[in-house]
Amino acid sequence: MRRTHYSSEIDESLNGSRVTVAGWVSEIKDLGGIKFLWLRDREGIVQVTAPKKKVSQEIFKLIPKLNAEDVIAVEGTVNFTPKARLGFEILPEKIEVLSRAQAPLPLDPTGKVKAELDTRLDNRFMDVRKPDVMAIFRIRSEVLRAVREFFAGNGFIEIHTPKIIATATEGGTELFPLRYFEKDAFLAQSPQLYKQIMMASGLDRVYEIAPIFRAEEHNTTRHLNEAWSIDAEMAFIESEEEVMELLERLIAHTINHVLEHNARELETLGLELEEPKLPFPRLSYDRALEILSDLGKPVEWGEDVDTEGEKLLGEYMVENENAPLYFLYRYPSEAKPFYIMRYDDKPEICRAFDLEYRGVEITSGGQREHRADVLVEQIREKGLNPESFEFYLKAFRYGMPPHGGFGLGAERLIKQMLNLPNIREVILFPRDRKRLVP
Ligand code: ATP
Ligand code: MG
Repeated sequence: MRRTHYSSEIDESLNGSRVTVAGWVSEIKDLGGIKFLWLRDREGIVQVTAPKKKVSQEIFKLIPKLNAEDVIAVEGTVNFTPKARLGFEILPEKIEVLSRAQAPLPLDPTGKVKAELDTRLDNRFMDVRKPDVMAIFRIRSEVLRAVREFFAGNGFIEIHTPKIIATATEGGTELFPLRYFEKDAFLAQSPQLYKQIMMASGLDRVYEIAPIFRAEEHNTTRHLNEAWSIDAEMAFIESEEEVMELLERLIAHTINHVLEHNARELETLGLELEEPKLPFPRLSYDRALEILSDLGKPVEWGEDVDTEGEKLLGEYMVENENAPLYFLYRYPSEAKPFYIMRYDDKPEICRAFDLEYRGVEITSGGQREHRADVLVEQIREKGLNPESFEFYLKAFRYGMPPHGGFGLGAERLIKQMLNLPNIREVILFPRDRKRLVP
C-alpha cells in the first residue's frame, strides 16, 4: 500500500474519493458499535472511523488490537462530515500494519506527559514525533535553506575546509586532540584560517556551513561541543561595516523566509516572530560599558562583556530601542583574536563586531588584518608562535586583498529566534560534556 496523501492534503475536493494515508497510531477509541482511530503523519492527524455496519469484520476486529504508535497504512474513502473532530474522516477498506510498537513507550509522543530533556534526547526519534519538536527541526531546515539561498544570491561560493587540523585557530585551549597516524592533530574549532587563506585565491566571496568542535568544559544552555557554524568571508572590503551590512541582510532574509514558509510551525510553537527592521543598531563597546555601568554592572575596559552583561544589554536594547538584534562593535584589541584588524589611528580598538540576539551572542566577525608583517606582529603579541601559522601566513605574502567575514552559530541563531531556553532543543543529537550517545 502506497501513501497517496498526507493528512494535510485532504480537502473537500477529495470528498468521496479513495485515498491511502500512512503513519503512526495516535489514539484509539472503542465505542462498541463504532471504532475510531487517529493516525498521525508528518503533516498532521486524520481520523479513521469504522462503524460496524460499514466496514469489514476484519478491520472492525483489528482496530482495538492496535497499539499506540504502531505504524499503519489505511486505504479508504474520504467523508466530509461536521461530526468528525477534524471535519472529515476516512472510512477504511484496508488497513495494513507495517510495524508494531512495544508498550510501554519510553515517552509520551502526544506531549501530554512531560519528560525530562535527557529522557527526550535518549529517545529523540520519538521526541521528534511531538508536533512542537518536529516544528523546530522543520524550521531549522528552512533556516539553512534560506542561508544558502541568500549566499548564492549574493555571489558567494560554497567551500569546504578540513575538520582535522594541525594548528589551533586561536591558540585556544578548547580543542579536541586526536591521534593522526604518527602526528598529533585536533578537530577544527573554526574554519577561520582556511576561509581567510581562500581570500588569496580569487574566489572573493566564500561561505561554509559545517560543524565546529569545541571542548567547552562547562554545561551551559548556549554551548555545544559539536555545533554548526555558518561562516562567510569576503574580499575587497573597505571596512567591517560592509560585513555587518551583509550579515544583517542575511539575518533579515532568514527570519522573513521562516515567517513565510513556517507559519504553521510558528503557530504550533505559539511564537510571534517579529519582522526585523534594518539596519540593526550599532552599539560601540564604550557605549555598552556606559550602559552597563548605569545598570549597576561595571565592566573594566578591555574585558569581554560576560553572559550576565550581555543579558542586561539585551534587555536594555529591547526596552529602549525595540531592538532584539543589535551589533556590538569597536572592541578593545586585547579582547579579540590576532587576525582582527586594528584601527590605524587607534590601535587599542579593533574592527571586530558581535551580533547579539535577545542578549546572546550569535555571531563574531570583523575586518581581518591582511598585511603580513602586521599580522605576524599581532600573532606574537598574543603570545603565539608565528611558525605554527606558517601555512596560513604564506597566503598573505603573494597578494592578499583586504577582507573580512563572520562565524554565525546555526544553533544559537535558531535558539534565539525561537526563544528557546536550551541550545540542545535545536540540534537533533547534541554533544555536550555528558552526551556522546545517541
Ligand atoms: P561564546 O563567548 O558565546 O562562548 P565565542 O565568542 O567563543 O562564543 P566564536 O569563537 O566567536 O564564539 O564563534 C562564532 C560563533 O559560533 C559564536 O558567536 C556562536 O554563535 C557560535 N559558537 C561558538 N561556540 C559555540 C558552542 N560551543 N556552541 C554553539 N555555538 C557556538
Ligand atoms: Mg565570539
